[in-house]
Amino acid sequence: MTKTETRPSSITATVDFEADGVHHGFLQLPYSRDDSAWGSVMVPLAVVKNGEGPTALLTGGNHGDEYEGPVALFDLAQKLTAEEVSGRVIIIPAMNYPAFCAGTRTSPIDKGNMNRSFPGRPDGTVTEKLADYFQRTLLPLADVVLDIHSGGKTLDFLPFAAAHTLEDKDQEAKCFAGVAAFAAPWSLRMVEIDAAGMYDTAAEEMGKVFVTTELGGGGSARAETIEIAKRGVRNLLCHSGILTGEIEQAPTRWLDMPSGECFVFAEDPGLVEVCRDLGDLVKAGEVIARVHPIGKTGAAPVEYRAKIDGIIAGRHFPGLVKSGDFLAVVGVAE
Ligand code: CA
Repeated sequence: MTKTETRPSSITATVDFEADGVHHGFLQLPYSRDDSAWGSVMVPLAVVKNGEGPTALLTGGNHGDEYEGPVALFDLAQKLTAEEVSGRVIIIPAMNYPAFCAGTRTSPIDKGNMNRSFPGRPDGTVTEKLADYFQRTLLPLADVVLDIHSGGKTLDFLPFAAAHTLEDKDQEAKCFAGVAAFAAPWSLRMVEIDAAGMYDTAAEEMGKVFVTTELGGGGSARAETIEIAKRGVRNLLCHSGILTGEIEQAPTRWLDMPSGECFVFAEDPGLVEVCRDLGDLVKAGEVIARVHPIGKTGAAPVEYRAKIDGIIAGRHFPGLVKSGDFLAVVGVAE
């Protein structure tokens, strides 16, 4: 392991992170393959720096089929001027760039799920090498880290910003202050199904102020959710003292995910009959979805019920489910 940990990354940034001004460039990752023996993966990035001050690291496209983040961040990278900034903004609109170009959650090169690849490996696959570069080079530069997610092709969510319960309560308070500043319509205290290998966990373990989001889903983006992303990014930069100006306030409702009881998973494959929509209030024991067997007619659907009282905050998006698929998550109003 020591050898891996001390091995330098093969990735180079084509911009100087310490130079003042607006710099557009790439993370260049050598990737030898059939169609380009000495080729590279080129991950676009922008660095906007002006003097001393905090650094914000902004990412979208951690999963390649989520679009609010890339839209808001390509837009910001094109518009942001150095004069507006005190400190530094590092913008990577599509973190798992091969996945983003393919429109898939994971990388078509190595099937790597960026958000299960941390801390990464400098001698690993393309996705692991990118994760390692974030782990050892980019995260240490940052004070505030925002990773913009949406549901992708298989999930849909109420638009929310979120942070996690942390052992360090001072750090946790700063993360939730960032969530509040983002001012999404919903704000969540989030529980992960499996936090191992996540970028979130890597940033939090380094003591960073970390804010994440789920701004919609279904493998596309809406005008409303794109506006939420754009406003949230600027608000978080204002909150961090990197941009001057007022935070654009917007009403938010706080939701908690108190336990694993929030989640409902399918145990049977079939056709989903959605019985409660995003934002609907539900009671424990209430049927939120039925799954119809599709092999033949005449069989009764299997009913899936909420385990707690709350609000439907997320759901499975496609019309068919397999055994083990996430069906819904119920958030509890704080
Ligand atoms: Ca995601």
